[in-house]
Amino acid sequence: MTINIILLGPPGAGKGTQARRLVEERGMVQLSTGDMLRAARSSGTEMGRRVAEVMDRGQLVTDEIVIGLIREKLAEGGKGFIFDGFPRTLAQADALGQLLAETGNSLDAVIEMQVDDEALVRRITGRFTCGNCGEVYHDDTRPTKVPGVCDACGSTDLKRRADDNEDSLKTRLLEYYKKTSPLIGYYYAKGKLAPVDGLAEMDDVAGQIAKALGG
Ligand code: ADP
Ligand code: ZN
Repeated sequence: MTINIILLGPPGAGKGTQARRLVEERGMVQLSTGDMLRAARSSGTEMGRRVAEVMDRGQLVTDEIVIGLIREKLAEGGKGFIFDGFPRTLAQADALGQLLAETGNSLDAVIEMQVDDEALVRRITGRFTCGNCGEVYHDDTRPTKVPGVCDACGSTDLKRRADDNEDSLKTRLLEYYKKTSPLIGYYYAKGKLAPVDGLAEMDDVAGQIAKALGG
């Protein structure tokens, strides 16, 4: 059985971490618009430069750009998508519904990852990732075993995101509450919403998601 799901929640809710687990455990395909945009910004094009500015401020990139990115990925085919960080606006949600219908896919569940704001700020301001394999670490709660070296792959290319600072984070939270949080009501009304406690232990969150997806 293939399923398509959305991971919905504020920045720092743990969407990326859970998406990576679902990829490993179920062979699903992660479609992270944040990752796609970070790839686009390093492309050296004019579009990439504009995207970088918007992202670093913590604002949302235009619907047109992100919908275009998702459209390309869906056209490549595959089944069992995890939409991570998309949709973020009602217009994106409507576009996704259309794209899924056009490609013969359906939406099975929207996992709402609930986390309070203080936890988000703590999580994000200590966060760094491996540039080689994408493993996520935290200064206080999940440091690497050897400082400066990725536990998973041994790379020393550890990075902090330019938008993981206090100012950009404030804007990202505002953007979330203004533009993205209405999607909770939108998907509730469609009967798709499955809330999970994003503050629980990582394994526990994964268990709650598995339960929401039917074991
Ligand atoms: P986080 O959820 O931790 O903020 P993401 O990697 O999902 O991180 O997103 C980082 C940035 O990329 C966002 O702040 C925004 O600028 C841009 N972005 C990602 N996805 C979208 C989207 N669906 N619509 C508009 N902008 C997006
Ligand atoms: Zn690594």
